[in-house]
Amino acid sequence: SFEGQAPKNWQKANLTPNARVVLEKRYLKQKDGQATETPEDMMYRVANVIASIEEEMYGKGKAETKALAKEFYTMMANLEFMPNSPTLMNAGRDLGQLSACFVLPVDDSMEEIFDAIKNAAIIHKSGGGTGFSFSRLRPKNSTVRSTGGVASGPVSFMKVFNSATEAVKQGGTRRGANMGILRVDHPDILDFIRCKEDNKEITNFNISVGITEVFMKAVREGRDYDLIDPHSGASVGQLSALEVFDKIVDHAWKNGEPGIVFLDRLNEGNPTPQLGEIEATNPCGEQPLLPNEACNLGSINLKLMVTEKNGKMVINWERLSYVTRLSVRFLDNVIDANQYPLEIIDEVVKGNRKIGLGVMGFADMLILLQTSYATEEAVEYAEKVMKFIQTEARIESQRLAEERGTFPNYAGSVYDGVMKLRNATLTTIAPTGTISMICAASSGVEPLFAVAYTKTVMDGTSLVEVNPLFEAFAKDYNFYSPELMRKIAEKGTVLGLPEVPNWVQEVFTTAQEITPEWHIRIQAAFQKYTDNAVSKTINFANSATKEDIAEAYRLADELNCKGLTVYRDGSREEQVLSAGASV
Ligand code: ADP
Repeated sequence: SFEGQAPKNWQKANLTPNARVVLEKRYLKQKDGQATETPEDMMYRVANVIASIEEEMYGKGKAETKALAKEFYTMMANLEFMPNSPTLMNAGRDLGQLSACFVLPVDDSMEEIFDAIKNAAIIHKSGGGTGFSFSRLRPKNSTVRSTGGVASGPVSFMKVFNSATEAVKQGGTRRGANMGILRVDHPDILDFIRCKEDNKEITNFNISVGITEVFMKAVREGRDYDLIDPHSGASVGQLSALEVFDKIVDHAWKNGEPGIVFLDRLNEGNPTPQLGEIEATNPCGEQPLLPNEACNLGSINLKLMVTEKNGKMVINWERLSYVTRLSVRFLDNVIDANQYPLEIIDEVVKGNRKIGLGVMGFADMLILLQTSYATEEAVEYAEKVMKFIQTEARIESQRLAEERGTFPNYAGSVYDGVMKLRNATLTTIAPTGTISMICAASSGVEPLFAVAYTKTVMDGTSLVEVNPLFEAFAKDYNFYSPELMRKIAEKGTVLGLPEVPNWVQEVFTTAQEITPEWHIRIQAAFQKYTDNAVSKTINFANSATKEDIAEAYRLADELNCKGLTVYRDGSREEQVLSAGASV
């Protein structure tokens, strides 16, 4: 394990007091409940461990490796880039597990089911999240040959996975998160759709229905579709596609679950079809993976990629290029520095070398550019920025391929003969739940949730905050007053406040005020240039109808999204975030 402290003459990290609290709680090395490293030491530890791979494996000299470590450190201390939480927590420490995302296979035998549960427990302990497809399990009430009994079906096994997760409290780091996916043509699909009807059931899972193109076509044409037995591959019944679609919509309207994921589209984007099909994603849905595959994520803070030029705020393309390329190199090194929880995962990951570079602070960037989220202009920025990141990331991955070789499964991949890449995928838009707090940036590509809000952090501590950009705007444009700030903190939004100029109201538009259509169009704009998928919540007002939700699914399909997560305000008892000062 790594010992060492950040040199005193290196720059301090630009952390807010809140960010320091978040880090101290869970991320810094501890002894007897006391942090034994500073956030700067943590960044130094991570930078050194990830840079030293180049000396160990790629023949780089000591001085060069040191210089690289300093570059890595600087981009973290600036808060321009942050790797996913497990990398911050575990690099250079005993656990050494650095990935946020895993997908494990669940095959249809007692041994294999319980192997998956055991492996998930090992992964949760290290701070990773697991996704599963339960589609291979035989349906409820089919016979079990060896005992003559009947099978209990995917949903009953999900409850066992859920209890196991509950019991493993993540080695004091995270609570454990799962994604459960069932194909829409599995005979138990109706049970699956309602399995989280009671919010207190299967709480450690997000669930998504795996939608197929065949199913969507049947919905459009108002026809029945076949239910397929996963063993024989034979049709064992039919359901009305519209009725099933309506049931999914009903439940999503009630409490946001299940989500949907377009399986055929995940596979259109599968870079290594020669290795098999993609059946599942990680817990928040942004990372489709093959069975036993893992991926490490990292995000660029777009809030800091804006600069003043001739008195105008513009995107700092030069810096964005530098940070993108350095981040790709960082994440490729993480693959080698990682200690995988299972031998098979080590093998699969190193065969494809997938990384997931994404962004946070997109809403902040728009604010600095004085652009409202719900506009054509914002969609254009989304496409332009993500296209740029994808292009620069590929240039760096090509450079790495020349130096270190292509990913081993390159032959037969979709890139074979097209471009030599070091990594089978490069881009993913993660939710950045914790790292955006560390960077004091808006999360992922989400709009502001509120202009002032209370946020519940991990173990129940709550923080009240007024968006610092708003405070700055208020001062710059002379409408600041402490009373106004208090008023906004209560309301959460600035919409309709006479003290706030109209154009500022538009620039600070919040998730609730943005129509689902604009939410989806932004998601689609990012998806267009993202190799993996985009984590995004489509917010609906409490008054939204089921037809509104159905419309959103159709639009997401039309615009080539890989999946969709909807949330109607107030539809769940416990919300992680709530607008205004609630506590
Ligand atoms: P962070 O900001 O902490 O790096 P994100 O919110 O971006 O993490 O989530 C990225 C991925 O990390 C999720 O999709 C999931 O795979 C994993 N993850 C997030 N939270 C948890 C958790 N509590 N337990 C296990 N895995 C998690």
